[in-house]
Amino acid sequence: MDLFGHLRAYDYGEVHFKYDKASGLKAIVAVHDSRLGPALGGCRFLPYDTDEEALVDALRLARGMTYKAALAGLAHGGGKSVLIRPQQHFDRVALFRAFGRFVDDLGGHYITAEDSGTGLEDMEVVRTMTKHVTGVDVAHGGSGDPSPFTALGVRRGIEACVKIQLGKSSLENVHVAVQGVGHVGYHLCRELHAAGAKLSVADVDPLKAERAQRELGASIVPLDKIFETECDVIAPCALGSALNDATIPRLRAKIVAGAANNQLAEPRHGDDLHARGILYAPDYAINAGGLVNVAQEVLGYDAKKSRDKTLEIFDTIYEIADRSRKTGTPTYRIADMMVEEKLAAVSRSKVRAASPAH
Ligand code: NAD
Repeated sequence: MDLFGHLRAYDYGEVHFKYDKASGLKAIVAVHDSRLGPALGGCRFLPYDTDEEALVDALRLARGMTYKAALAGLAHGGGKSVLIRPQQHFDRVALFRAFGRFVDDLGGHYITAEDSGTGLEDMEVVRTMTKHVTGVDVAHGGSGDPSPFTALGVRRGIEACVKIQLGKSSLENVHVAVQGVGHVGYHLCRELHAAGAKLSVADVDPLKAERAQRELGASIVPLDKIFETECDVIAPCALGSALNDATIPRLRAKIVAGAANNQLAEPRHGDDLHARGILYAPDYAINAGGLVNVAQEVLGYDAKKSRDKTLEIFDTIYEIADRSRKTGTPTYRIADMMVEEKLAAVSRSKVRAASPAH
């Protein structure tokens, strides 16, 4: 494996490895960037075919966290941990205890949280070994379900897009088509309904779509028709890669703004949307509400502060859209540029602070 080649490709950073023979723990902690503060990011516990695959997953995801945290204005860098799930029988509690010790050894440089394959109970075990963990039980100062905060941020992002693209300062009668009404999509529909928006929804689980219809008056659209709904906004809230060669030509909406991660199948699809005059709210900018809420846990959880900070997603999306319009640059690139500007500014101020006085 070309270890440093991988690190170069993802612009690293540092990576920590731990093998604990007794528990079978094989852990990778990737700290992509800590210029803005300690790296924050979830812990995955999944089977991987190779160590290289696990490493690349950690590197890629931690880099994404740097961008999301920076754009949300959090004093955190991006990190991620990947624990390779043993193939043989293992003691889950012993394994997460060993992971907790590893996180503690890093002295707060990396703060962990739940992610794919881990849950509240695992984080409670980690908490017995280190204080550098979020996503613990509400009874222990945890921040609870992130989905309502993610949905709140997405609603604010949609408001910013509607203002800039449609010239409207309210969502009254704005038609939003939501793909996926699971945790975030459902809360988003509630937010939008309360703001007077008209809803169309599609979900592979008919019960979820029916709940949105029954409670919020949403129209149900067949799964393969949601992207061609005649509407103002498409909100992808299901899986990644929703915006691709097949879906983009069918879009009738002027705005794409939803919660799903990695919405662009490839970066060039961000260029396609831009070329078609469709305003795309970059996923990691609009869906940061859940991360904002988790980050609040590090400071001592306060739901009102989380909410206030999440509301600021309006300003971020507005700025991205405004800069895109003024410069003719696709929004996904503007978002990346804004992060890189922030990180460069911290580097400059650190260099200044470290320089001897003239
Ligand atoms: P979820 O699993 O609760 O909801 C996803 C929903 O999409 C489910 O109801 C599922 O049935 C539906 N679905 C799956 N495939 C579909 C398809 N092809 N067409 C229509 N519906 C489909 O997940 P979630 O927590 O609501 O997250 C949704 C997305 O938002 C994910 O991409 C997730 O990574 C992202 N996200 C979530 C959060 C959060 O706070 N939960 C934060 C940031 C980003």
